[in-house]
Amino acid sequence: MSTESLRAPVALVTSADKGIGLETARRLAGAGYRVYLTARSSERGRAAAAILGAQLLELDVTSDQSVRHAAKSVEQAGGHLDVLVNNAGITGPVRDDPHDYTADDMTKVLLTKVGYIRVIHAFLPLLEKSDDPRIVNVSSGLGSFTRVHDRSRTGAFAGTPIYAASKAAINMMTVQFASLLPHIRINAADPGLTATDLSSGQGHSVHDGTDAIIACALAAPGGRSGTFAGRDGTVPW
Ligand code: NAP
Repeated sequence: MSTESLRAPVALVTSADKGIGLETARRLAGAGYRVYLTARSSERGRAAAAILGAQLLELDVTSDQSVRHAAKSVEQAGGHLDVLVNNAGITGPVRDDPHDYTADDMTKVLLTKVGYIRVIHAFLPLLEKSDDPRIVNVSSGLGSFTRVHDRSRTGAFAGTPIYAASKAAINMMTVQFASLLPHIRINAADPGLTATDLSSGQGHSVHDGTDAIIACALAAPGGRSGTFAGRDGTVPW
């Protein structure tokens, strides 16, 4: 690794082998960051890492062992992290009949979101070695209590009780951690409906979908913490 590359700020984006994560990793690499790209699929991850000149770490956010192993690799390679983007996500099922939602549906979706804390826990010591550590939790406007009560938006919220609840949990976790860890800027970002596999190709481009994530990740030192941001500004809780 060159001296220049060792001096570059370091970012890690979870699940950056496709969709919003991949575009986030691409933009951070373009901004001069040395990027760790994590993926469950080593084949897709390798291809993405090769295109971006990023370093691939295999990581399943539901596995302690996998996350600990990834943190150890980063520690051994250079020992610090400036930006962590928690991006992994699944929607879980959308049932036609609400009677059909089960605890198992909820558990599966929440386990991925529990992964945000697993990743934060493992990488906190490396973030705390940075002069300006930042965490961006990729959330969703569907996790906003204000928006779900906005009658003009009712249609958009219908049928997402599990996913919306998981994102509301991420929002609260963001605010709580931002207050408990004032030396780290921790924000939630809402991509908005973005054309990826998760949205079945509906929505704006992945570039637009990563605007809020990049704004939080690259905000100048002393900037905001404990906020919920979309590409058009603050998202109401
Ligand atoms: P995507 O293209 O489907 O990508 C989701 C990524 O999450 C995939 O790389 C997937 O890996 C990974 N993932 C799922 N479970 C995982 C696990 N246990 N461990 C590690 N990685 C896991 O979807 P996306 O739209 O880019 O979503 C990225 C984030 O944006 C999610 O948090 C999503 O909730 C959020 N978001 C998306 C939209 C939208 O409209 N697209 C809107 C608001 C928020 P595998 O392929 O291996 O499963």
